[in-house]
Amino acid sequence: MVDLYNQYLQIKKEIDEAIFGVIERTSFVKGSEVTNFENELAKYLQVNNVISCANGTDALQIALMALELQPGDEVITSTFTFIATAEVIALLKLKPVLVDIDEETFLIDCSKIESLISEKTKAIIPVHLFGQCCNMEEIMNIAKKYSLYVIEDTAQALGADYYFSNGQKTKAGTIGHIGCTSFFPSKNLGCFGDGGAIYTNDDYLAKKIRSITNHGMSKRYYHDFIGVNSRLDSIQAAILTVKLKYLDEYHFKRQKAAEFYDKELSNISWLKIPKRVSYSNHIFHQYSIVVEGNSRDKLKSYLEENKIPTMIYYPVPIHRQKAYEMYNFCDENYPVSNKISQNILSLPMHTELSNKQLFYICNKIKSFKA
Ligand SMILES: *Cc1c(COP(=O)(O)O)cnc(C)c1O
Repeated sequence: MVDLYNQYLQIKKEIDEAIFGVIERTSFVKGSEVTNFENELAKYLQVNNVISCANGTDALQIALMALELQPGDEVITSTFTFIATAEVIALLKLKPVLVDIDEETFLIDCSKIESLISEKTKAIIPVHLFGQCCNMEEIMNIAKKYSLYVIEDTAQALGADYYFSNGQKTKAGTIGHIGCTSFFPSKNLGCFGDGGAIYTNDDYLAKKIRSITNHGMSKRYYHDFIGVNSRLDSIQAAILTVKLKYLDEYHFKRQKAAEFYDKELSNISWLKIPKRVSYSNHIFHQYSIVVEGNSRDKLKSYLEENKIPTMIYYPVPIHRQKAYEMYNFCDENYPVSNKISQNILSLPMHTELSNKQLFYICNKIKSFKA
C-alpha cells in the first residue's frame, strides 16, 4: 500500500544528516528543530500559528480542549472517518453527532448538517477524507449562522488547496478556527514515528493550545489550564523539515498515479473511480474505488492472490462501532455510509509507484470476473 523505504532512499543523505544533527546536539525534546519545523510549516500553509504535538489524535483532542466546551455539548462530524475524530469527542465527555456522507465524494453530506444542530451544538469537525476538502464554504456558512467552532481534520489532506467561489485559494485546515493534522508514517507528510500539529490564525487560541500541549503551563511550574503532555520530538521535526520541502512533489507523484488509475479503470462497468470536487484539489492520500454488485471482498481476495495489497477504509462506520453503542445512533440515518463501507476499496497509493506496477495492478483488476 505504501513504500516508505524507497521514498527514504531518495533523500537518504539529507535525512540521515538531519537525524544525526539532533543526536550530536542531544536536543531531543523541544530543540530548535521543532520551532524551525513549526515555522516552515506555517510558511507552507500561510497560517499564523503552528503548534506541533505527539500525534494527530492528540491534535484533535487538544483543539477541542482549547474551546472549553462543557460535558454534554455536541460536536458534529462524519460517521465515515478514522475513529480518532469521534474518539476525542467522546473522551472529553462531549457528544458526537454523526452525519452521513455524500455517495460520490465520501465527504460529510453538508445538506444533512443543519437539521442536526441543537442548543447544545458547539462545533463541527469536517474531515477532509482521502485527500480532498469538504465543502468548507457551506460548512463555514452554517457555522457562522449558529456560532459554531470549526475544527478541520486535515490528517489526510495536509497541503490540499481549497478554492473559494470568489477564486481565492487557501490551504486545507486554515479555513476553520483550528486545523489538525497527523504525521503518521503513511500520511502524505509522514515522519519516522508519531507526530501531529495544530494550526490556527487565531493568536489567542494558539497561545492556549501551546500551553495545553505542555501541561497547561504558562511559566515553568505555573499551570493555567489542565493540559496534557504532547510533543513532537526533535528527531521527527528534523525529518519533517526535510520532507516538507518535497511535499508538493509527493502530491504530484500521487496525482500522477491517480491519473493513471483513472485512465485505465474509468471504462470498467462494475467499478466507480473516485470523483474530484470542484472546490478542492485532490492530493490522493487514498485512491478509493467503489465496487458494484457485492463483489468488493472477492476482488480484494483476487488482488491479494496476485500480490496486490488493498485496504478497506473504512469497513465499519462510527455509528456501528461497538464502543459507541451508548449514543444510540439510528442506523437508518446512515444509508450511504452503510453502503459505501460494504463496497469501497483503496488501491495502492504512494509516491514510489512505477508505471509498470500501475499497469500490473490495473490489468489484474480488468481481468477480474465477479
Ligand atoms: C490518521 C488520522 C488521524 C489520527 O492521526 P494519528 O497521528 O494516527 O493519531 C485522525 N483523523 C484522520 C482522518 C486520520 O486519517
